[in-house]
Amino acid sequence: MEISTAYLPNRVFAPEGARGAPRVFIAPQRYVQGKDVLGQMGRYLSLVGARRAAILISAGGRSRHGALLEDSLRAAHIDPIFALFGGESSLEEIEKHAAALKSEKADCVVAVGGGKCIDAGKAVAFRLATPVVVAPTLASNDAPCSALSVLYTPAGVSTGVEFYPSSPALVVVDSGIVAAAPERFLVSGMGDAMATWYEASVCLRNENAATAIGARPTLASGAIGEICAQTLFEQGVAAAAAVAAKRVDDSLEAVVEANTLLSGLGFESGGLAAAHGFAQSFTALPVTNERFLHGEMVAMGTLAQLVLEDRPDEARRVAEFFLRVGLPVHLGHLAIDAADAGALDTIVGQVLGFPFIGNMPMPLDAGTLRRGLLGAHTLGLAVGQQMDDAAYRRLHAA
Ligand SMILES: [Zn+2]
Repeated sequence: MEISTAYLPNRVFAPEGARGAPRVFIAPQRYVQGKDVLGQMGRYLSLVGARRAAILISAGGRSRHGALLEDSLRAAHIDPIFALFGGESSLEEIEKHAAALKSEKADCVVAVGGGKCIDAGKAVAFRLATPVVVAPTLASNDAPCSALSVLYTPAGVSTGVEFYPSSPALVVVDSGIVAAAPERFLVSGMGDAMATWYEASVCLRNENAATAIGARPTLASGAIGEICAQTLFEQGVAAAAAVAAKRVDDSLEAVVEANTLLSGLGFESGGLAAAHGFAQSFTALPVTNERFLHGEMVAMGTLAQLVLEDRPDEARRVAEFFLRVGLPVHLGHLAIDAADAGALDTIVGQVLGFPFIGNMPMPLDAGTLRRGLLGAHTLGLAVGQQMDDAAYRRLHAA
């Protein structure tokens, strides 16, 4: 995984490494979540003083939400400039929009869409030196609140990460739009969000661990991760049922906040560890990368991390939750053959190269990582035999 050198937060916060580094907490300036808030975008944009707002949105997104956004901006005397997002958070896409919007004199970038559109929007705003406003239409990922983007080739292969000195000025989450999206996206977001607490916990306990910006985690990010996990355990099943019925209720609002705000703040200032190391590594297997969402891969990574930590009871509790909502709990659920030594070698090799795998408190080598992953696989199979994976099969049918 490459890291862009345009802005390197660890040079600012911890040039000597994590030991002795300060605790740093980063967050967006405003987070707004509720039903129908997208239609209030013009009013919210007054907070950033926008006059000519670029709206980065896919063609489908524009046909669904374009008129609503345009009316709202015009009512607030803001000119909308629509920029059609092509689908990939690639440097080609980003530079193209940055050049076009510079000549349009856009004074803010509003990214409306999924994780890749949001990541591209942050990168475009950085190049224009304008604030970025993020309006996720899915609760499948924790991109909205962070000051970094994951970049991909135009073909969709992850190439690295770019950091920004500013967090999003405003995050606007319309829970009505999130509720209208397929259930699988919300469930995938729960997989991503559930990792937050376990990853932040190992980073807090390991004095050599560093967050994504090179700093030490704060207690605040640990507490946020903990309430995130608790919210999912208590309300995740009800929230998935709400989305399946296209209904906004309190459980959906709670889980949308967990997936978007709590997970985002928790990972950025709390730190990543083996759960995301495995998740990133599964993307090296083309079939898995094509068929599965980030949070689904993080779910399996979380089980592997808990096995590496030697916490079988917690791993079992998490696997039971994952099965209830329809997340993967064994390698077969990610279309990986556990007997395929080549695939396991690929995964383990990638995990060893993950920049934050050293946040785990124990020494890890290829053998321990392989045993951790296979241990999680075996545990997931056993839990699956007791509980049935009907929710997984329903979400992955067709
Ligand atoms: Zn993630």
